[in-house]
Amino acid sequence: MSITSLYTIIWTFNSNNLKVYGENQVNIVEKNLSGTAEKEFRNGVSNNDAKRALELLLRWIGENPEREGLRETPKRILKAYKEWFAGYTQNPVEILNKTFEEVDGYKEMISLKDVSFHSFCEHHFAPIVGKVHIGYIPNNKVVGLSKLARLVEVFARRLQVQEKMTAEIGNCLQTHLDCLGVGVVIEAEHHCMSSRGVKKHGSIMKTMHFTGVFLNDSEKKNEFIRLTS
Ligand SMILES: [Zn+2]
Repeated sequence: MSITSLYTIIWTFNSNNLKVYGENQVNIVEKNLSGTAEKEFRNGVSNNDAKRALELLLRWIGENPEREGLRETPKRILKAYKEWFAGYTQNPVEILNKTFEEVDGYKEMISLKDVSFHSFCEHHFAPIVGKVHIGYIPNNKVVGLSKLARLVEVFARRLQVQEKMTAEIGNCLQTHLDCLGVGVVIEAEHHCMSSRGVKKHGSIMKTMHFTGVFLNDSEKKNEFIRLTS
């Protein structure tokens, strides 16, 4: 064996074992000889395995994943999934870290209506499309309005159950904004019911969650419902 080929074997071995660890250990990239990413892992699953799973699903529905129009589809689906399920990599507490206390003793309700969202039902992997209405009564500190919308995104961009998502948004605000009370209402259409199963298009599911003063003060509760309906 020549020195050159021995060197190539050693170099290949080392290069194939080169691992670059991401900050949060979620994504691990292994580099190949040319230095480009050969395999990318998310949560311990390689992109290649995820792509193969999608190709299997395409075969299962009766498609040919090799045909031109579908050749890049698994790759595109994975890219879309990163965006649709970005909530798993986001921490809602970080969003509520920045608050403002110079509000001149403002004590009344702050509400935000019609925050649109897209999520996926965890039972059927079908879209849930709707709106969230949020109201809270501050206790000396308030949060920027866009942060409320971002909070909705963090919980919406995960597999969801509407009841759970309503409570998650409300409890997170109550705990980390330390306010006097929170009201959350979600109105949404579930595609697992409109496009399959009973096929009832246009049915809207409504859920609500209250904390703090809203639990005992029906006047405040009604004011919130009036403001957001
Ligand atoms: Zn469902």
